[in-house]
Amino acid sequence: MQAMILDAPGKPLRLAEVPVPEPGRNQVLIRVHACGICRTDLHILDGELKDPKLPLIMGHQIVGTVERAGDQSGQCQLGQRVGVSWLGASCGRCKQCLTGRENLCDQARFTGYQIDGGFAEYAVADCHFCFLIPDGYPDLQAAPLLCAGLIGYRSLCMAGEAEHLGIYGFGAAAHIVAQVARHQGRKIYAFTRPGDAQAQQFALEMGADWVGGSLERPPVPLDAAIIFAPVGELVPAALKAVAKGGTVVCGGIYMSDIPSFPYELLWGERVVRSVANLTRKDGLEFLALAPKVPVRTEVQPFPLEQANDALEALRRGEIHGAGVIEVRGSSESEY
Ligand SMILES: [Zn+2]
Ligand SMILES: [Zn+2]
Repeated sequence: MQAMILDAPGKPLRLAEVPVPEPGRNQVLIRVHACGICRTDLHILDGELKDPKLPLIMGHQIVGTVERAGDQSGQCQLGQRVGVSWLGASCGRCKQCLTGRENLCDQARFTGYQIDGGFAEYAVADCHFCFLIPDGYPDLQAAPLLCAGLIGYRSLCMAGEAEHLGIYGFGAAAHIVAQVARHQGRKIYAFTRPGDAQAQQFALEMGADWVGGSLERPPVPLDAAIIFAPVGELVPAALKAVAKGGTVVCGGIYMSDIPSFPYELLWGERVVRSVANLTRKDGLEFLALAPKVPVRTEVQPFPLEQANDALEALRRGEIHGAGVIEVRGSSESEY
């Protein structure tokens, strides 16, 4: 099969012909139709996430069809269209796993990072971590639901009942969470890089009630804020913008250092918290909710061999909505 391979951080991905992987116990072989790109891919590429398998096939928003099943993978059926997201495996026995918090399992392994992902014609995944893709979502439009959508959804849940919701960084996750938040009757205040008129226009199109630069003060105190941009300076900025009792949710897996700030900003029972990927329950809930909103994802497709261009466009902030790798040339099965 064709795959884009990461040999080492700091190097561009390399198009290569590699063997189709074999599904093992509890695993299925998925023919990949589409795979979303994500800022986390840049953090892997740049070596900011320290523990990738190498060589690696990145990509953790996989949409594809189950083509072959390994032993004991009964819950996935051949021909089903499934999605695979960042959380690819957990131990199933520890305290976190037994309390529905498998995202916090010390032995969790992640798709496109410690398990080969979807920048390829085929991928193997644990059937317990595959989600059924709702009918009516084309492959390309479904892919961003699997990380951008799921992280956004978990972040929104962590923001509580907030009526006035700030969103810092208006990319793939924000454009999905904004639609869900609007559906729930919340007001949205979108913060972008100062002067990024294009992102601000996009936020308005997605239903934002107010847009501004990241260090501006919103017209009303926020009840909560979600930070998707990986910029530590935004934490004190968001704390300044939230009212007493408000929560600042950091939705990314990586963030630059948070500068020191006066305790006064945290005072008044303000909360700062992170969100670590997703649980399977989040996946089931969000994929049931998305068609009801309905969440419509804006996608910018790239062919597999242009994955490097896609990632660099994401780095430069040039992707409108969500970037998705469209995998072609695999319509004929080898099996
Ligand atoms: Zn992601
Ligand atoms: Zn565990």
